[in-house]
Amino acid sequence: MSEKLNPFKIAQAQLDEAAKVLGIEGKAEHMILREPLREFHVLIPVKMDDGSYKVFKGFRVQHNDARGPTKGGIRWHPEETIDTVRALATWMTWKTAIVDLPYGGGKGGIICNPKEMSDGEKERLARGYVRAIAQIISPEKDIPAPDVYTTPQIMAWMMDEYSKIVQYNAPGIITGKPLEIGGSLGRDDATARGGMYTLREAAKTLGVDLSKATVAIQGYGNAGYFAHKLVEELFGSKVIAVSDSKGGILNTNGLKFEETYKFKMENRTVVGFPGTDKITNEELLELDVDVLIPAALENVITDKNADKIKGKIIVELANGPTTPEADKILHENGKFVIPDFLANAGGVTVSYFEWVQNINGYYWSLEEVHEKLDRKMTKAFYDTYEEYNKRKVHPRLAAYLVSVQKVIEAMKLRGWV
Ligand code: GLU
Repeated sequence: MSEKLNPFKIAQAQLDEAAKVLGIEGKAEHMILREPLREFHVLIPVKMDDGSYKVFKGFRVQHNDARGPTKGGIRWHPEETIDTVRALATWMTWKTAIVDLPYGGGKGGIICNPKEMSDGEKERLARGYVRAIAQIISPEKDIPAPDVYTTPQIMAWMMDEYSKIVQYNAPGIITGKPLEIGGSLGRDDATARGGMYTLREAAKTLGVDLSKATVAIQGYGNAGYFAHKLVEELFGSKVIAVSDSKGGILNTNGLKFEETYKFKMENRTVVGFPGTDKITNEELLELDVDVLIPAALENVITDKNADKIKGKIIVELANGPTTPEADKILHENGKFVIPDFLANAGGVTVSYFEWVQNINGYYWSLEEVHEKLDRKMTKAFYDTYEEYNKRKVHPRLAAYLVSVQKVIEAMKLRGWV
């Protein structure tokens, strides 16, 4: 990975830009936010189905806990690195702050390829990881959740393992659980739904009519396919292209969610869906659409393609899809980016609701979850938009200014800086 595309270097560069505007460059509050407070590296030996043992490498990074226990997902990815996890943990600090959750930022990762593992191997890996990090997590200390390639089932195994270790039922240790064992209604589509609420407000302020808008979505995991469903359901927008790791598909007459999703479930890819043209993931990003939704992985919009992006509003459901150089180009070209840690904060927001419900042992209706999520996302959008208007900076920097100031305030009140 080149240093320019190292997500942690990018996260630090983004913070440095905000520190400059806030006049805190080089001060203690800047220095403490440039690095994680703590990180844990673990080895997880797992007995594979063929009887052999394989040793997996895992991480849990706690970036900052001034505002509350650290919170953030666990990624299972063959290309996971400590720097990716550091960056994602840092972004969680800004994400929990922007929607005003009483949390700090954390993240976990395991280098593995779940696509090549059986359910039994995945369960043993999930349980082994929890045993390895049990001493640094708790419902009051650090609360994991799902992320790329981790599922409610994996959360269930992890919660069970932790409960066995502490010898009581501890649903509040992890969020994104199945409903039957303490999950929250509305957690499944929360990341995409939160993003849609911010898109709705952005469209209002920019005068874009979403009922006539065209949309392209990169990535068809939890965030991507729910975004497809919700832009149709909430706004009546027309999705003309979607993609997954195998490639993309285009139909300028529109792709209906139900049929596309069914095809993806049956074929494990959207590629080959009848009546569509095959396109690459790169081509999808450059389509002439009103709304572009990157919902896959990091570093897909860079200085190489930013100039070719035509979408008016870019809703970053993925973490870290845009590099700092690309941010500047998009801003100069009049594109409006709803930055990742604002656009995709719906997931952790409903995770917070889940944790609150676990602690209270009292569960909410779906309407209640949606209404509370909408309020959080709408407020966070306008807090950012105000800063964007006031300072005349690009939207990501505006969002940084909102979050960084909140975290600094918490550190000052605690007497850290
Ligand atoms: N992994 C998700 C994120 O990046 C959700 C985190 C959580 O629910 O704690 O925001």
